[in-house]
Amino acid sequence: MACVESHYGFSIPHCKFTVRIAQVPFDSIPHPISTENGILNVLILLSPACHDPIARRGTLIHECTHCLFLVKKPEVNYLEEGAAEYLACLLVPELNPSPDLRYVEAHGLVRELIHARPDAIPRLREIQPSLSIATESNILQIVPDFPPDKTALLTRKFYPPDKYTVLYLADGKTVQQFVEADYPVQAIERILTQRPGIAIQYMMDQQGNRYDAEGYEEDGEMLR
Ligand SMILES: [Zn+2]
Repeated sequence: MACVESHYGFSIPHCKFTVRIAQVPFDSIPHPISTENGILNVLILLSPACHDPIARRGTLIHECTHCLFLVKKPEVNYLEEGAAEYLACLLVPELNPSPDLRYVEAHGLVRELIHARPDAIPRLREIQPSLSIATESNILQIVPDFPPDKTALLTRKFYPPDKYTVLYLADGKTVQQFVEADYPVQAIERILTQRPGIAIQYMMDQQGNRYDAEGYEEDGEMLR
């Protein structure tokens, strides 16, 4: 954490860390960071893949960058993910960068920002401690000649909501509706508040996975 702070400025507030090697595949960890007692205790989960010292160090630097100022997952933007990837790859040159195209794009944008002004991130955090809440004008205040289209790309949210097709019964008729939601259960809640007295039949995500009215996937795994 001290290493991340030396590049990007201090964490706000200072947090206590627990690091655990998770006994589950990486994909089944909803997010490697969780918090207890507000944001004063932070738990970072490392997957079995992080038994490899290079991967472990890279993941810790990435996740510690998020700990500079913790926000909820839907709030995280390309700037913060890119800053996390950039620093992990800078400090662990042997690290294989993430092949996920969103991380590749975020990393590239932040690399350009830092090339334009090497201290861009710590200076930006002096006016906005949370990279994910930083606005386009915050970025242009620190790096005035940075291309505005790339500034807009940096402030985009990193995790767009998923899209679901929902089929439900209302007034004896079957109704199909397309909704955006972070989780199927929230999609149901959104529809229920719009149309009281309806009966959800099923929801289907863009990959064709179907969920029942409780938000259970058809194989029984609870989504939240
Ligand atoms: Zn991240």
